[in-house]
Amino acid sequence: MTLKDGNYTVVATVYQGEKLPVVIKIKHGKISRVSSQNTLPETSLNRQVLATLSDEICHTQNLNIDSVSGASYSTSGILTAVKTAVRQAGGKIKDLAEPRNLNRKDASKRTNTSNYMNWRETPKNVTRELNTDILIVGSGISGLAAAVQSGELGLKTIVIEKNAFVAGNGGGIEGIFGVETQMQKAAGIQSEPEKIIAREMELAQYRPDGSFWVDLVQHSAENIEWLVKNGVRFDRVDDYSGICEFPTFHWFEGNVASKGYVPYMKERADRYGVKFLLSTPAYNICYKIIVLKAFMLKIKMVLSKLMPKQ
Ligand SMILES: Cc1cc2nc3c(=O)[nH]c(=O)nc-3n(C[C@H](O)[C@H](O)[C@H](O)COP(=O)(O)OP(=O)(O)OC[C@H]3O[C@@H](n4cnc5c(N)ncnc54)[C@H](O)[C@@H]3O)c2cc1C
Repeated sequence: MTLKDGNYTVVATVYQGEKLPVVIKIKHGKISRVSSQNTLPETSLNRQVLATLSDEICHTQNLNIDSVSGASYSTSGILTAVKTAVRQAGGKIKDLAEPRNLNRKDASKRTNTSNYMNWRETPKNVTRELNTDILIVGSGISGLAAAVQSGELGLKTIVIEKNAFVAGNGGGIEGIFGVETQMQKAAGIQSEPEKIIAREMELAQYRPDGSFWVDLVQHSAENIEWLVKNGVRFDRVDDYSGICEFPTFHWFEGNVASKGYVPYMKERADRYGVKFLLSTPAYNICYKIIVLKAFMLKIKMVLSKLMPKQ
């Protein structure tokens, strides 16, 4: 499909109904750039989203793409604007909508993408190989914690993140749950772990596995102390400003993880030598290698049990 060349300006409706004029540049019949008509501040989320979407759309000429984590409204609004521009340029959306996950940079190199088994094939054109002990996919709030823990354990660690920035959805969270923490003790809060577990189970109509709650509650203080040890900063602990039943909510510094959690955890992971590869999405994991390694390890363990010690 060839689109009519030109700059198409379409107003996208993004987060909270904000209007964002987007310029879609068509050159040589293809989408060659998606950008804002106005200069956006460097810290603007819409700027990040535009950069990510522009890169992906121009590279793949495909509009069936994943939302940018933590920015689903902006992603959807900008994609709608691009679709409008495509129609204005005489194109059809269906021609730019390969099935999800098959539209990435290397999709064209795969043989038969409709066969699930082929997704597990080792890619034919490997441009770079990296060896690591641990590979973490996603640098949201959990990925960052895993990165710090892995670094702490002295393991060679790589984190791959599809966005051009770390934090994921977790950047916007306000705080975390904890029972019998140092902060609560300092604030004179009496914790009631059994009551909390019982109430949570009751509220969820006894559907969750109770052992999950016991585990979470029993280790929550340990988690928070570990975060503090790794530089995370908290402001206070309360009952979510009077909304919750128990005073278990530990507020991050500045009331948001992007201030109290993300920068400190990223800094700590960097210090441990964890390598972050941003703008690097994972498409499929060749877990057969891991299975093979685990199998070999098992054989070694069995052999070492069978072999008499020298
Ligand atoms: C409105 C709202 C408020 C919330 N408030 C709180 C709160 O106050 N406290 C709390 O504890 N929880 C809160 N939560 C829940 C919390 O946001 C999530 O539990 C948390 O963000 C999950 O962290 P995560 O790291 O698993 O996922 P995310 O933070 O979403 O991170 C996932 C990361 O993986 C990346 N990724 C995804 N796919 C790929 C791929 N294929 N290749 C490479 N990278 C990839 C993403 O880009 C992203 O960076 C809230 C949730 C919402 C919606």
